[in-house]
Amino acid sequence: MSTQSALGLLGGTFDPIHHGHLRLGIEARQRLGLGAVRLIPAGQPPHRARPGTPAEHRLAMTELATCGLPGFEVDPAEVLSQQTSYTVATLERLRKELGAMRPLVLILGADAFLGLAGWHRWRELFGLAHIAVATRPGYVLADALYGGELAEECPQRLAQDVRILQSEPAGAIVPFTIPSLEISATLIRHALAHDEDARFLLPPAVLDYIQAHHLYSHLPRTA
Ligand code: ATP
Ligand code: MG
Repeated sequence: MSTQSALGLLGGTFDPIHHGHLRLGIEARQRLGLGAVRLIPAGQPPHRARPGTPAEHRLAMTELATCGLPGFEVDPAEVLSQQTSYTVATLERLRKELGAMRPLVLILGADAFLGLAGWHRWRELFGLAHIAVATRPGYVLADALYGGELAEECPQRLAQDVRILQSEPAGAIVPFTIPSLEISATLIRHALAHDEDARFLLPPAVLDYIQAHHLYSHLPRTA
């Protein structure tokens, strides 16, 4: 039994960070009993096109969005690193920093989880952290159980009782339901490129930052 509170890890390109991400972090913290949630903006993610927005801007927006939000931290290490951002490498670094017994909980939306078997050294993730998977509109979590490599790994790791996130340091997959917010960074980039009003999709401070730095004012590549 671990005596240290579980730490949630929420990675993303955050291009830009929005209320879908923030609500996901808050829900995870409350429902899964996490001591804190650490947001980790990706520097150079391997599994998708490089984000259109420079990492320093994405980090600054993440800091603005979480400023004054209790229980949230921002980890700039992937942004500051020159290396490709692999989640497995980030978890190895955090294990060294936090010790073998601290429960770590990688928080993923259903879309990200369904693509997990394409991630670098993905099976090793379970030796380093738990994975908590949140519902996301448009994605069916149960699809992970049918066929493919993910389906081989899922059944024996699936846990419904969130207490495993405190009692073990790593290894479980815990699904959880959050209120549906059909918000994506793609949608916001598209709205801003077309000069549409994006208020209430993301924090006002982030929108102010976007306007001050003239981000997303031209049509971005689609993700
Ligand atoms: P993009 O449209 O550029 O892919 P995004 O909105 O999906 O951006 P990401 O940075 O790709 O944001 O996502 C980071 C994490 O947050 C992923 O695990 C993703 O599943 C999750 N997430 C993002 N938006 C939501 C949402 N509205 N509901 C639930 N999970 C979400
Ligand atoms: Mg995404």
